[in-house]
Amino acid sequence: MEYDLRNLNKFDRIGIMGGTFDPIHFGHLAAAEAAREKYGLSVVLFIPSGIPPHKEANSLTDGKHRYNMVRLAIRGNPHFAASRMEIDRDGVSYTIDTLREIRSFMSEKGRLYFIIGADTAALLPSWKEFEVIPELTDFLVLPRHGYDTGSGLPETPLPKNAEILDMPLLEISATDIRERIKNHKSVNYLLPAAVVKYIHTFGLYVLSGQSLPEIMDYLEKNLSKKRYLHTMGVYETASKLSRIYGADEKKTAIAALLHDCAKDMLPAETLKACDKYGVKSQEIFKESVGLAHPIIGAKIAADKFGVRDHEILNAIKYHTTGRKNMTLIEKIIYVADRIEPYREPFTELDRIREIAEINLDQALIIVLKSKIAYVKSQNKRLHPLSVAALRFLQGN
Ligand code: ATP
Ligand code: MG
Repeated sequence: MEYDLRNLNKFDRIGIMGGTFDPIHFGHLAAAEAAREKYGLSVVLFIPSGIPPHKEANSLTDGKHRYNMVRLAIRGNPHFAASRMEIDRDGVSYTIDTLREIRSFMSEKGRLYFIIGADTAALLPSWKEFEVIPELTDFLVLPRHGYDTGSGLPETPLPKNAEILDMPLLEISATDIRERIKNHKSVNYLLPAAVVKYIHTFGLYVLSGQSLPEIMDYLEKNLSKKRYLHTMGVYETASKLSRIYGADEKKTAIAALLHDCAKDMLPAETLKACDKYGVKSQEIFKESVGLAHPIIGAKIAADKFGVRDHEILNAIKYHTTGRKNMTLIEKIIYVADRIEPYREPFTELDRIREIAEINLDQALIIVLKSKIAYVKSQNKRLHPLSVAALRFLQGN
């Protein structure tokens, strides 16, 4: 049940722990506990942020999950409570609004303690109405790795009513936890077991149900030799391009490995798969059933390999046609598919390989043009998405 904020008027000392909690971990909990003990706080309110001003919102896990994880983590502790106020609020979450709302439930003499890590404290001066905030709350600042200049203090001056909370520095961060999960590594004992279980149940933070070696192993056993070699070539080239252009290497690798996972199917199987996944059999498939494999491939990537990430799925889905306004990973897979080392040589291949490492859009334009020319030479119908892709890149 949601914490009833009206209870706050009974207390003299209240702690607030704000954060994205993506996910909540023992660093947060130990900090809240240290603050509670030292300052005799009656309650520490954990408030998962809605859309935070300082973090990229689209990479953030749904507020519902972050709130649920907080609830699981604090369960059974009578001094800890969770509030949905920020995730339920429209627009960007500003601490100043949260503090005003909380204050409105508190008694006159109640004191508020905002518990923050040194990393967050360093950002304080950029907060909305920063000058007003210290009138509403005190701060308890926790040591945080990287912001620990020997004293555990951030280099930016703290507000005058900030105190350093003396507690052992716990080298746990949500970023590290997400990274470990992405790489199929254990996160046990970094966060409460119930939260670990929740993460696994909802498949949070993983890019795919299988690790890269598992996917490779599967491909080696199930693709034709030729297709497997091509796939590994795309993987190699795409990985290199992702490093050059700063794309997410793990996402790019998964997209590269799975881009052709449906290509060895016979036409009849492909059409059956269209039925199974509810893919509308487009008119154009009649002429070129090969155009269905990227769409089916994306479905299989999601269904069989547990890929949930839309960037990966779209890179698979559009790797043959391209489309308007392609993402970086889509471009990389599209180009890598054409220039990977095991490709049969064609006239411009070496030149495109060179260009790809210097100007990806330029390489993409050349590849699209040559593909369009090829389709035309075969008297086949051009897919409108390829035309749209080229037009977009050429700015017309
Ligand atoms: P991310 O890695 O995604 O930034 P995080 O682990 O820093 O996540 P947040 O939700 O950003 O967690 O943190 C909420 C608050 O808790 C912040 O004030 C942060 O500084 C503090 N905090 C997080 N981890 C620790 C820790 N291990 N020790 C002390 N304070 C922490
Ligand atoms: Mg942080």
